[in-house]
Amino acid sequence: MDLLFKNATIVDGTGKPAFKGNVGVENEKLLIVNDEVKAERIVDAEGLIISPGFIDAHSHGDGIYGRDFAQLCKTSQGVTTEVCGQCGSTFYPVNAATLGDLQNLLSVICPSFDSDMVNWKDLKTYKQYLSSLNLTCNTALFTGHSAIRIAVMGYEDRKPTSSELDKMKSLLKEAMEEGSRGMTTGLIYPPGVFSDTDELVELCKVMAPYDGIYATHLRNESYDFVNAVKEAIEIGKRAGVRVQLSHHKAYGKKNWGLTKETLRLVSEANAEGQRISIDQYPYEASMTHFNVLIPPKYFNGGINNLIKSLKDRRTRETIRGEILDENSAFDNYYQNCGGFEGVFASALPATPQYDGMFVSDIATMLKKDPFDTYFDLVIDNNGSGSGIYFSIGEEDICRVIMDPNVMVGSDGICKAMDEKGHPRAWGTFPHAICYFNKQKHLMSLEEIIRKMTSLPAERLMLKGKGTIADGMDADLVVFNYEELQDMASYKCSNLTTKGIKYVVVNGEVVYEDMHLTGKYPGRFLAHTTNV
Ligand SMILES: [Zn+2]
Repeated sequence: MDLLFKNATIVDGTGKPAFKGNVGVENEKLLIVNDEVKAERIVDAEGLIISPGFIDAHSHGDGIYGRDFAQLCKTSQGVTTEVCGQCGSTFYPVNAATLGDLQNLLSVICPSFDSDMVNWKDLKTYKQYLSSLNLTCNTALFTGHSAIRIAVMGYEDRKPTSSELDKMKSLLKEAMEEGSRGMTTGLIYPPGVFSDTDELVELCKVMAPYDGIYATHLRNESYDFVNAVKEAIEIGKRAGVRVQLSHHKAYGKKNWGLTKETLRLVSEANAEGQRISIDQYPYEASMTHFNVLIPPKYFNGGINNLIKSLKDRRTRETIRGEILDENSAFDNYYQNCGGFEGVFASALPATPQYDGMFVSDIATMLKKDPFDTYFDLVIDNNGSGSGIYFSIGEEDICRVIMDPNVMVGSDGICKAMDEKGHPRAWGTFPHAICYFNKQKHLMSLEEIIRKMTSLPAERLMLKGKGTIADGMDADLVVFNYEELQDMASYKCSNLTTKGIKYVVVNGEVVYEDMHLTGKYPGRFLAHTTNV
């Protein structure tokens, strides 16, 4: 054997009760062994839990692939596989003519762009880039609908013509042939928001023969949350594809409790034969573009138009009125957060002096109107940067994780080691264990681990992953249950977890004694239809 963890408490990922045993690794595969066996390296895991490596079902790690802090961010919390390409945003397919628009979309997850990006016209060329990187985690990839749309029609706020739709379909088909898991959408963000249900159904039909998954950042997570879930279910049904609802939450105090209805709709659809699953991050705030408070129609024609609108005094006042309208017909983050007291400047590239402050506090400090403060920050940062939005209820968080269709996904974004970010990027997996199991006693350790291992492996068709059993892939995490504690917080987001002892990816130890070992066994996991 290459490696043997002796006398461990095995939580095998299936949800069955933990048991004592030895877990061996040979040729990148696992073997549970009872007797004394010889191994190149033997680790005494007495008193430690060993479980399958965690699967991040919803990762934006593709924004920072291969960077040192990216490896530490994911690996230090026990993640061994991340599922990327989420919320409509991917780094391919690139059309050189609209590269700037695509980079603007991706700027929320990516600190700087590779000069080679102009060549990533399809998944095939992008995979070549991927294989040149130092990866500690395995990575599976979706294809972003927004990326496809930008490649074909830029930021146009209209239906595609039939030839444009054909072009989009062929780009998606090409990606499926290269091992994409399916298509993701970001339906609150331009240009995803410009698409209608029929467009998405037509595209999803392309991936039905590949058993592709439609993963969606819903059109609305607040006042129209229920209808947005209905739309996703309808798309899955009409196109005959699996559906994954991303980072499930009822956004905005007025909407707390709507998860009762959304979870009911999903279980009803599944009872009727659909295949719908859900991911969730266990926190009360979300994080996305800093510009997300501005109604989507102002993004028509790209960021330059948006900045022009904000600089025009009269349009600025109109926008302020639309945001202040409690019955506005867009996903109104200002209303969801209860005003600028709930809007946190997280990472603003041109004005980093305000990172880590609420917009209301920045306004007070500058003795300036809060709306003008916010609009000027958007202008100063040319529409880039990210914010954190406090508006998710604890009861909903707990209800969602208890649902049988729900798994854990970080939705984490981290663009630099020294930034102020959202703690989910560094803490989601240990936080889910500490919060749901240790603190709230909502479920057993075995069950919350199942939701990070075998459940995502099964629903996202990650063959060989998510269970400790003979012949499965050697992706493991070893931790001390008592010591386990996520350290990342809103004030200090980029801190590593306490209590994680070893992380193993494809049979190699990538993390030990709170340090990366310098091994990069992570690889691209192609989606194949015969799983
Ligand atoms: Zn999203």
